[in-house]
Amino acid sequence: MPELPEVETVRRQLAVALPGKTFTAVDRIEPAMLRDCRSEEVLGTLPGRRVETLTRLGKFLVAMLTGDVFLTLHLGMTGQLLIDAEPTDAHTRFVFRLRDECSDPTMPELTTLEFRDARKFGRLHLTTGCPAPRLGLLGPDAWKGPWDREYLERKLYRRTAPLKAFLLDQRHLAGIGNIYADEILWWTGLSPLRPSGSLSEEEVTRLAEEIPCRLGEGVRLLGCTLSDYVDTEGNSGKFQEWLQAYGRHGQVCHRCGEIMVRTRVGGRGTAYCPGCQH
Ligand SMILES: [Zn+2]
Repeated sequence: MPELPEVETVRRQLAVALPGKTFTAVDRIEPAMLRDCRSEEVLGTLPGRRVETLTRLGKFLVAMLTGDVFLTLHLGMTGQLLIDAEPTDAHTRFVFRLRDECSDPTMPELTTLEFRDARKFGRLHLTTGCPAPRLGLLGPDAWKGPWDREYLERKLYRRTAPLKAFLLDQRHLAGIGNIYADEILWWTGLSPLRPSGSLSEEEVTRLAEEIPCRLGEGVRLLGCTLSDYVDTEGNSGKFQEWLQAYGRHGQVCHRCGEIMVRTRVGGRGTAYCPGCQH
């Protein structure tokens, strides 16, 4: 499932390709993936709108269009956004055509934006005036903020939920998923099972530092290996080697040599080291 670093990588690609371009046509729509709008509204609203900016909050991408229209996208489990991809396949859910404003309208100089999604958990919201209302329920972006150590301390205070469940809860911080939650906890030396409210001041400080640090590393790593072989789920050899916790149960901990174990927290598979994560 794409997490904040994967979504940020997609955002950077789209931010190069789309701003300044105007939607000319919508060739395909998947009604089951629409939120806050109907197919007819997408068909009626998008053509003629220019893309102004592409921003991100947590795992959501937001394209601001002319006329105060917002296209909010979530990749779900298996979503991919592709620019000028090879001919569409069975998992193509949306196809948009765009053109450069200054290009000759008689020339077939078009850009296609395709939303592929095998499992159809991805979402497309079309709204006017502000991005999808769903975004109002999210906490600040886990990587870019704005939030600080005091914010984290306040959110953790007296909570009994396990730390991993706290990190996955998008209402506290937006963008952390299963992979980065395991990684952040390994790097802070904290057990995913610790009650959230039980952290010492020093542990809160460490956690507050490690969250943006790990996510930033993920963005950097995906960005610099992207042109080679990273797909949107980050399944590259280099990426796998970089992981210290996620998927490493049964293997030796790189910090203390203990065998890492697997448990479930909040229904999610969780790998951690019983030797050095307390
Ligand atoms: Zn260890």
